[in-house]
Amino acid sequence: MKIAVFGTGTVGPAVAAALAKLGHDVVIGTRDPQDTPARTQAGPMGGVPFAQWHAEHSGIAVATFADAAAGSDLIVNATNGSGSLAALDAAGAANLAGKVVMDIANPLDFSRGFPPSLDPVNTDSLGEQIQRTFPDARVVKTLNTMNAAIMVDPASVAGGDHSVFVSGNDADAKTVVAGLLAELGHRDIIDLGDITTARGTEMLLPIWLRLWGALGNADFNFKIAR
Ligand code: NAP
Repeated sequence: MKIAVFGTGTVGPAVAAALAKLGHDVVIGTRDPQDTPARTQAGPMGGVPFAQWHAEHSGIAVATFADAAAGSDLIVNATNGSGSLAALDAAGAANLAGKVVMDIANPLDFSRGFPPSLDPVNTDSLGEQIQRTFPDARVVKTLNTMNAAIMVDPASVAGGDHSVFVSGNDADAKTVVAGLLAELGHRDIIDLGDITTARGTEMLLPIWLRLWGALGNADFNFKIAR
């Protein structure tokens, strides 16, 4: 599948590399495709600087959000939650129309320090904001409840015995996303329902952040025992 991965932080490169390894035709979307590959500083979450990652994955092109989306069948949104609507707007509604938008972003609000709060929250979600703003896109919220390494290598924790959620209005889009999740190695894929259920998974972030603090690392995931 032709896939545009929006995001040059921790998640975007991890997901792009994993999907490319699976044989998909992947391009990374960024605001400035000239400047981004020259970045030698690690992002705020640490990890490998983008320049180094790009040198190690030279087969994955870097393009503007618009060019990446235009040539792709599916878009992965792994941008900062505060910038996701701007990134998708830069991609252009016409380039998103009819396409699956796999939304991994969380609407973390650091304006009052750490740990962040959520905005929107309770009666709205970033997933819904994206679906409302781009009504012709087929938004599926998923993977936002685990760290980037586990997203692409679920077996690295508990042998993969844990859960991932999907939320979205379009049943076919959720089937496509579930297929990609299965390709990545996820086994317990729980369809929560329409895009309003993204409120639930985004609101797992406050407990996820406290678990990170309590456990001292991010190598954990939620398992829904039943
Ligand atoms: P991040 O630092 O949160 O986001 C980096 C990306 O956001 C870059 O591609 C950047 O674009 C884009 N961006 C930032 N502000 C923007 C703006 N105003 N307009 C357009 N684009 C903008 O990276 P991350 O840590 O990989 O997280 C990505 C998303 O996944 C976040 O929403 C995060 O909450 C969620 N998430 C992260 C993890 C994790 O393990 N880190 C786990 C679960 C969910 P440029 O490329 O142009 O700089």
